[in-house]
Amino acid sequence: MVKRILMYLRKSRAEEHETVEEVLSRHEKQLQECALRQFGTVIPEENIFREVVSGETIDNRPEMQEVLRRLQDDVIDAVLVIEPQRLSRGDMIDAGTIVRAFQYTRTKIITPQKTYDLDDKFDRKFFEMELRQGNDYLEYVKEILQRGRLHSVKQGNYVGSAAPYGYKKVRDGKNYTLEIVPEEAEVVLLIFEWFIEKIGTSNICKKLNALGKRNRNGTLWKPDRIRDILHNPIYCGKIRWNWRKTVKKYEDGKIVNTRPKNKNEDSMIIDGKHPAIIEVEKWELAQTLFGHPIKLTNNRELRCIFAGFFHCECGYAMTYRTDGGKAKPRVACTDQVNCGHKSAIYEEVEEAVKQALMVELAEYKELAKGNKSKREGFKKAAIEGIKKDLAKLDDQEEKLYTFLEDGTYTKDVFLKRKKLLEENRSRLNKLLEEAEKTVEEKRSYKDAVVKLSEAIKTIKNKSLSVTDKNKLLGEIIEDIVYSRKVPEDRRKFRDVPFKLQIKLKI
Ligand SMILES: [Zn+2]
Repeated sequence: MVKRILMYLRKSRAEEHETVEEVLSRHEKQLQECALRQFGTVIPEENIFREVVSGETIDNRPEMQEVLRRLQDDVIDAVLVIEPQRLSRGDMIDAGTIVRAFQYTRTKIITPQKTYDLDDKFDRKFFEMELRQGNDYLEYVKEILQRGRLHSVKQGNYVGSAAPYGYKKVRDGKNYTLEIVPEEAEVVLLIFEWFIEKIGTSNICKKLNALGKRNRNGTLWKPDRIRDILHNPIYCGKIRWNWRKTVKKYEDGKIVNTRPKNKNEDSMIIDGKHPAIIEVEKWELAQTLFGHPIKLTNNRELRCIFAGFFHCECGYAMTYRTDGGKAKPRVACTDQVNCGHKSAIYEEVEEAVKQALMVELAEYKELAKGNKSKREGFKKAAIEGIKKDLAKLDDQEEKLYTFLEDGTYTKDVFLKRKKLLEENRSRLNKLLEEAEKTVEEKRSYKDAVVKLSEAIKTIKNKSLSVTDKNKLLGEIIEDIVYSRKVPEDRRKFRDVPFKLQIKLKI
């Protein structure tokens, strides 16, 4: 019995005054007491998962990943945890993953205070609320930390995690500052001198590599790295704040942290406490030699949330079009001139997709409840029909033999008829197999309900970027086929509504 119970332990940010070991062993004791009360025995060592790294998302938490894998592969009845928030402290997507994993594997979450059965609507709501609170709290803590860091930066301290090339991090009272590493600083000096002499970044790399100079990690110099150094005001004694904010992105179904370079208002340059390697004048001169402001990597933001899975009936992709803001943005076939399908207002298409998904959702909800719906009715009728046809074939076969025996059929005719009959039978059997296969189980209906609800919410979620929405919807929508064919003689196409055919991945 306890073999099917896991324990998951993780330290939270709020427990900063304690070490990871202290927190985990304190919680372990509490949870073992809880297990002893509930099951009369403790959780075996192999079922205890101790998260020692402090990853924010599931991706950065190897033990959590292992727990999720166990839920999937083994029969696990429950996971013991000190409070729901220990399972997820990331964003709502992670929370969604957790909820789904527990709900669909029918795994309970046991905390010393309460047991959550996510199959139960109220338990699930309550559990989700707990997770959300955890997340809000995390955001708050982060803000406080960030404010502390900003304050520290404003005093000229160095708050980065690793020292930039040319320096080492040293304590300065409660804070940190930088100290010059002479052999590295010499390379920094060379880089600036050469660049000012109009030697390009690639040639600077070649020269440094030829001199046997290496990066701190022993790798060869690359132009990107040289450019980073040339642009970094740390070398003229300044500290740059908010230069690269960590931005979360949803890519390939995962949250990834990116640090795009930005030059917006909330970034600032402050005089640092650390010594400069290069004079401010030289640093500034180097900047002007780049000839242009530091290039911002701007991946063009998508504008249509269905990009990539939105096609015209003719097969071409649908594109998003604006006329500079006067009229509402529209979607049109890329090959509109030839295919003849008219465009539509983008907003209306978005709404129509949402409506269509809501209809699907309602249907799946019925299916998940186990009620016989239209769809299931059709399938059942089809199966019945095929079975009847198969029975008829058995009758016919019987007759064939009678006709052969009483001499009505010659052997030749009999064989021909028999062959035909066998062909019919194998065709029907194949159909039957297909029809039975499509009678899905209730569980996948439930999964569809969750996915569809998420998709509908995603469409109207104002806090998500178009790119994020696109990625999320792409997980559920296989393709949307658009059509709006207007008869030749009609000049006004407003009365002809567009049609959408939505293919889902569920
Ligand atoms: Zn077209």
